[in-house]
Amino acid sequence: MRAVPKSLRLTNQARLVEQLLRRGIATRAELAKAGGMSQPTAGKIIDELSSAGVVEELSAVSEVSRGRPSVGRPGKQLRLAQSPARLVVVELGVERTRLSAVPAALPEDERWDVEFRTPGSEATWRQRLRQHAASLSIRRPWGVMVSVPGLVDEKAGKILLCPNLHWCERVDMVATFSDVFRAPVHLIQEIRALALAEVGTRSNTSDFLLVDFGEGVGGSVVVGQRPYEGNVPSTGEIGHTPIAGNTRQCGCGNIGCLETLIAEPWLALSLAETTGQPNATFADVCRLALTAELPRFLTDALDAAAACIAGILNVCGIKRVVLSGHIRDLGPHATDHLIASIRRSAMWSRFDTVEVELVHRRRARGLTIAGIQRVIMPTDWGGR
Ligand SMILES: [Zn+2]
Repeated sequence: MRAVPKSLRLTNQARLVEQLLRRGIATRAELAKAGGMSQPTAGKIIDELSSAGVVEELSAVSEVSRGRPSVGRPGKQLRLAQSPARLVVVELGVERTRLSAVPAALPEDERWDVEFRTPGSEATWRQRLRQHAASLSIRRPWGVMVSVPGLVDEKAGKILLCPNLHWCERVDMVATFSDVFRAPVHLIQEIRALALAEVGTRSNTSDFLLVDFGEGVGGSVVVGQRPYEGNVPSTGEIGHTPIAGNTRQCGCGNIGCLETLIAEPWLALSLAETTGQPNATFADVCRLALTAELPRFLTDALDAAAACIAGILNVCGIKRVVLSGHIRDLGPHATDHLIASIRRSAMWSRFDTVEVELVHRRRARGLTIAGIQRVIMPTDWGGR
């Protein structure tokens, strides 16, 4: 009998795990069919994945205890393993650094095991990281997935530009994390992690543009259930699109970037400039945005964001936008204004509805999916 080439076996493994990522729970027969392979081939791979601790069978007992009716042969239903922890996921945030130890199963909620305020220097950050990492419940992780708020060369494991956390650019993050956890380390641009989290979470599988508003603004085009990757690692940076008439100096070195109008600290500054109250905060902006008459600085910022978003929709032929982050905190008047402005600017609105959806950020989920794809099943996912 001819041996199955290793690369094909890995591709088949990845296909089956991808089906589980999308479906949550599936029988062996369903996985074989969806993965386009025979039941014996799929069965062998599933047995391997099961002994490696990547997937597990749901017993009839656990299903009944969860109050769900059992269908067909429940003992043969599979899901991603819910224990033990296999990966460390990290959000390196401008304000806070968060860490969790997670199994292959995707976290349902956005929760973190430990977190600390991101300090302004590398030495202190390194010290805090080591201290907090020790309290994670994981022994010998398979890999560490780190989301980074800036331009990242993910293949080279290098941070190229971090406009809101410049000291990161001088740090060999891969070496630092690998020193702490003794495991392979992957950096991922934070907007791509957020986009991955949205894949497979809803029945609508059409392409979309995800835009996240926070300390900065990021955008990711998801095509065929994959965040689009360009030829050069400068993707996701919708926030660094210059807006005519805006003279603010951005942390990226350019002048007039979108994020200097609509990112949290900049909205607070706009309010301070408008009211003459130097201590105005983003929470004050949110309170003000609850009034029916939105302040001019906010509508201008929302219109600028809508124009950037519509430009991408018009070029890429996409009719679905998913928005996350602080845009929800700004309340219904601001979101209605933004949605109307996107629809007004997008060409497809002349023919059909441009769908705009508001979601919660699910960074831990996105990082876990990235970990499954890059560490647990490292093959060329999705055929790209
Ligand atoms: Zn910029």
